[in-house]
Amino acid sequence: MERTLIKNLAAHKTETVLINAWVHVARDQGKMAFFDFRDRSGKVQGVVFGKPEVLEIAKTLRPEFVVAITGIVNERPEKMRKEGVLNGDIELEITGIEVLSEAQTPVFEISEDSIDKDEEVRLKYRSLDLRTERMQRNIRVRSEFVRRCRNFLMERDFCEIETPLLTESTPEGSRDFVVPSRHNPGSFYALPQSPQQYKQLLMNAGFERYVQIARAIRDEDLRADRGYEHTQIDVEMSFVKREDVMSIIEEMVTTTVESMGYTIKQKPFPVITYQESMEKYGADKFDLRTEEDKKNGVLAYAWVVDFPFFEKTDSGAWTFTHNPFSMPKEEYIDDLLAGENIENILTTQYDLVCNGYEAGGGSIRSHKPEILEAVYKVMGNTAEEIDDKVGHIIEAFKFGTPPHGGIALGVERNVMNLTGEEALREVQAFPMTRKGQTAVMNAPKPLALEQLLELGISVTKKNADEPK
Ligand code: ASP
Repeated sequence: MERTLIKNLAAHKTETVLINAWVHVARDQGKMAFFDFRDRSGKVQGVVFGKPEVLEIAKTLRPEFVVAITGIVNERPEKMRKEGVLNGDIELEITGIEVLSEAQTPVFEISEDSIDKDEEVRLKYRSLDLRTERMQRNIRVRSEFVRRCRNFLMERDFCEIETPLLTESTPEGSRDFVVPSRHNPGSFYALPQSPQQYKQLLMNAGFERYVQIARAIRDEDLRADRGYEHTQIDVEMSFVKREDVMSIIEEMVTTTVESMGYTIKQKPFPVITYQESMEKYGADKFDLRTEEDKKNGVLAYAWVVDFPFFEKTDSGAWTFTHNPFSMPKEEYIDDLLAGENIENILTTQYDLVCNGYEAGGGSIRSHKPEILEAVYKVMGNTAEEIDDKVGHIIEAFKFGTPPHGGIALGVERNVMNLTGEEALREVQAFPMTRKGQTAVMNAPKPLALEQLLELGISVTKKNADEPK
C-alpha cells in the first residue's frame, strides 16, 4: 500500500490507509491504546480497540518510535471532535503496526517547546530538538522565505552564481577564519566574510544581475543574534543607482513576506538619514512597532541612508564605516580624491532595518580604480599596500566596468523577524553554542600531530583542556 501523508488523511474517510510516522504521544488505557502520530505534514490521533494481537504490539510503542501504521480513517464521534485542528474530526482505527525503529526515552519531551531547555543539551541532541513543532516551523519558514526571494529574483533575470569558499581575505570589519594549505606550508586561505569582491568581478564579467544564497563566515564576538556563520541573500546589479537597488529589494521583501501572510507596517518603506536616525533613536537600527504591532507580528521596515563613509579608529586613523568598496555620494567624490573633508564624506550605503534589527545593507560601488584607490589612501595605505589588498580588483576595473551596486540581506535576521525569535540558534539548523562549539559535531578540536606536520604547522599555545 502507498503511504498517505497525515495532512491528507481526511480525504480518505472510511478507507484503509498506510502512514509512516513517529509516535508523538502514547496513552495506554488498558483495553484500548491511544496515540498521536506525527509526520512532516502534521499529526493525527490513532486508536486500538478490540484487536488483541494489535493491542499487544501497541503496548510496546513509546514516544519517538518510528512506525508504519495501517488503519481505517474514521470520523470521530460528534462530541470528540476538535474544531480548527488538523484532523480534529477524524481518527485512525489501527489495524496493523510495524515498528521501523525503536527509540530510547528522548532527553527532553519532543511534544513540548524546547526554548527554555539547556542550550548545550539542545545542541548536542539537535536532531531531536529539530523535531519539536516550533523548530520545524522555524526551519520551514526559513526555507520558504529564501525560496520566495530567490524565485522573485530569478523571474527578473538574475543569475545565481557560486563564489569560492577558499579565498583571500575580504574586509567586512571582522577577523578572518583561515584554512592552512597543505601544498603551501605556512600559507593560508581565508573563508569569505562575504562574496563582495567576487560579485563585483561578476559585474565586470557582464552578468549584470547576480544572486547567491551565500554563506558568510566572520570571526566575531558571539552574541544571541550574531554567530560565526550566517547566510545572506547576496545581490549585485549593473547600471543602477541607489534607488534602483532599494526599490527592487523592497519589492522582493514585500512580495515575499506578504505572500507568506505577514503584514507590513508602512509601504513604501520610510527612508531616513543616518543623522535623523541618530537624533531620533540614538542608533542606526530602530523598532517602529507599537506594542499592538508587536503582538500581531507586524513587520516594520525602514531604510537608513547617507551614512558617513569613514570613522576614526582608536589609534586615530580613518577606517570605513560599512564597506570600503562603496562609492561616496556624488557631491563628495572630489573631496575623496583630494583627501579633504574626510569626516563629512557621505557614502551611498543603504541599510534595511526591520523591527530593531539590521535586515540588510549594501551600496553603490566605486567602479573607477582611482576612487577605490583614494578610499584606501585615506585609510593610510601606501601604493604597495593598496596593490596587495585590492590590486586584483583595481586591475580588473581598468578593462571596462559598468557602474554597479548591490546588497546583502541576512537570512537569519530576517527569519528571526518573521518567527519572532530572539536568537540565531532558533532559526539555524545546526548553530554553535555561545562558546563557539559546533552543534552535534566536536569542533573546534586539536589536530593530530601527523596532520599538523603535513600542514607545516606547529602549535605553540596548548589547548587549555589538554593534559600538560
Ligand atoms: N558585502 C556586504 C555585506 O556582506 C553587503 C553588500 O554591500 O552587498 O555586509
